[in-house]
Amino acid sequence: MANYKAMRGTQDVLPSQSGKWQYMEQTALSVAQDFGYREQRTPVFEQTELFQRSVGETTDVVQKEMYTFLDKGGRSVTLRPEGTAGAARAVLEHGLLNGALPVKVSYVTSCYRYEKPQAGRLREFHQFGVECFGAAAPQADAEMITLAKTILDSLGITGVSLHLNSIGCPACRARYHEALRAYFTARQDELCETCRGRLERNPMRILDCKSPMCAEIAAGAPVMLDYLCDDCSAHFEEVKGCLTDAGLDFVVDSKIVRGLDYYTRTVFEFISDALGAQSTVCGGGRYDGLIEELGGAHVPSLGFAMGLERLLLVMEAKGAEFPEEPRCEVYFASMGPAAARACFVMATRLREGGIAVEFDTVGRSLKAQMKYADKIGARYTLVVGDNELNTGEAKLKDMETGDQQDVKLDDSLYTILYNKSLDRQLAGMTDLLGGDLTGLE
Ligand code: ATP
Ligand code: MG
Repeated sequence: MANYKAMRGTQDVLPSQSGKWQYMEQTALSVAQDFGYREQRTPVFEQTELFQRSVGETTDVVQKEMYTFLDKGGRSVTLRPEGTAGAARAVLEHGLLNGALPVKVSYVTSCYRYEKPQAGRLREFHQFGVECFGAAAPQADAEMITLAKTILDSLGITGVSLHLNSIGCPACRARYHEALRAYFTARQDELCETCRGRLERNPMRILDCKSPMCAEIAAGAPVMLDYLCDDCSAHFEEVKGCLTDAGLDFVVDSKIVRGLDYYTRTVFEFISDALGAQSTVCGGGRYDGLIEELGGAHVPSLGFAMGLERLLLVMEAKGAEFPEEPRCEVYFASMGPAAARACFVMATRLREGGIAVEFDTVGRSLKAQMKYADKIGARYTLVVGDNELNTGEAKLKDMETGDQQDVKLDDSLYTILYNKSLDRQLAGMTDLLGGDLTGLE
């Protein structure tokens, strides 16, 4: 047994699982690309103040969950707890918002929150996210939600419902805060200590509290939708209208207030029926004030993030399909040093042509090499010994059917293997289309 273990709340992705991660990430990035998004990569740590400013001082994330430390130069540094702050900082810093708007960025990032680890809740977790800077129209909100839904659909995720709410703008929210404050003050003795502290500064955060008692009290609280100003109300109506016309089901859910302070107007979550407590796989919304808060101009913006660990749990629970793992095309089994060198050279040539090849580098017996070829799922094997080197010919064995074929150990081997892989692709496409492709020629 090894002496060291991954730290609590962190996970390794082993080679047998990484294909699933690549599939999720590539699917999300490529769907987002179809919507006009390009990937942006930002550092894993930022100055602490960036998150205090953007996520908000009164949020759980900033108050309890951040990994904050002093670096050797005495600066306060924080491992990013989410992706929006860094994304906004980067587009501001590099002047992207001075160019054509909207600026649309996507990302896959690790995030860090000091939370109580449980299924679907980790201390290091991963998000796929997108941010769209400079789009004020309600159609942008509807498009953002559609993008999230398209990604979930592309991954074969079923059983998720869209929960939608509007939390207004600073103007109408001020009136709402007063109503909330009055409501919660009447029952302040029953609130948890953190929420009592929130009562003055940010009563809306109480709605997001995970303590059962606070949640029970919050259930009877006034709802934001009753306090929306005319502009915010019209915006929300248009978002709902767009979604309805596009055939996207949703429920208006006044409990969705989101745990980060920068949100305004539209907020949404996709909630899975497969995950129990950690059921939100995607959360997002509009944050019209964030760029100004960070020192930029007024740039209405919006985004969302999906938790990839949760997405994977849902996909597995729902039996969603993952692409087949790539396989070794041909395994060269060798006998003796001269054959081993010849196998290395042949493997190198074939790999230059994009064929997946492996050969023995352990010094196993021929029998053990064949067993290994079987274990790694090689499609073909080719045994090379002194005899084969002398004649320049060998037998290519199909590991599924056991059929053997005489092949020359020269460039014609490449053509044979290449054609076999083409045949397989064609057969796969024919299966997929459920018919004969020959008519297409
Ligand atoms: P929750 O209410 O479950 O704590 P949140 O509101 O804190 O979620 P966001 O800040 O909106 O979450 O992050 C977006 C998404 O990232 C969540 O919907 C979830 O899928 C995922 N996520 C958040 N925190 C964690 C975590 N600790 N471990 C794994 N995934 C997480
Ligand atoms: Mg949280």
